[in-house]
Amino acid sequence: MSYKPTSLADRLSILNQRIHDAEQRFGRVTGSVRLLAVGKTREAADLRVLASLGQKAFGENYLQEARFKMAALEDLSLCWHYIGRIQSNKTAQLAAQFDWIHSIDRLEIAQRLSEQRPHDVEPLNLCLQVNLDNETSKGGIPLPQVPQLAMEIAELPRLRLRGLMSVPRPETEFDAQRQQFTRLRHSLEDLNPLGLHLDTLSMGMSHDMEAAIAEGATIIRIGTALFGPRQR
Ligand SMILES: *Cc1c(COP(=O)(O)O)cnc(C)c1O
Repeated sequence: MSYKPTSLADRLSILNQRIHDAEQRFGRVTGSVRLLAVGKTREAADLRVLASLGQKAFGENYLQEARFKMAALEDLSLCWHYIGRIQSNKTAQLAAQFDWIHSIDRLEIAQRLSEQRPHDVEPLNLCLQVNLDNETSKGGIPLPQVPQLAMEIAELPRLRLRGLMSVPRPETEFDAQRQQFTRLRHSLEDLNPLGLHLDTLSMGMSHDMEAAIAEGATIIRIGTALFGPRQR
């Protein structure tokens, strides 16, 4: 590709076009894939530019960094998703500050969030993080543990269990990427007959978003393709 997008506005519109094209190509309903802009290591000013262009959902991995940006962008009405590792002594802040948490992998964390979610706001949206390859360096539960944890979390007040999230092992081939996402989709499809009402597959990053969309992603989490390479 000879044309290199230079501005955030260019990158956002190229990305939205890629999402639209993938929806068409894989028979997805137009608008059924939502873009989560992953802002880790990026400046609040860049998030503000994206917000002015209509991008309102932001994902953050680090609580302190997120709180700093939330304060800087307080005048905007944004939707904040937490996608990082969760420390149990930070759940009160997570419960108070975020709209969504994608990285739930323990009942104890969900119980704390349920107790700590303020009463005057909407229930906290949750996804269970699945570790598809049992990589020890990564968060998430193995696939076979998903139904049990999902059923337990679905009982908790002030939470709304929405679906599953994963960060699969990086693959370069489309078919290999797609196979991993198929496993997550099947797992979600097995949950709703148990009486759950899940509508979210949070999967797909800059390098594998098309494969994720092909397999039913409803939220793709994009950093690099939007902001450029991370400096740290
Ligand atoms: C950083 C990150 C992303 C975005 O990754 P890119 O490859 O930069 O698009 C998505 N999900 C999680 C959990 C991340 O930590």
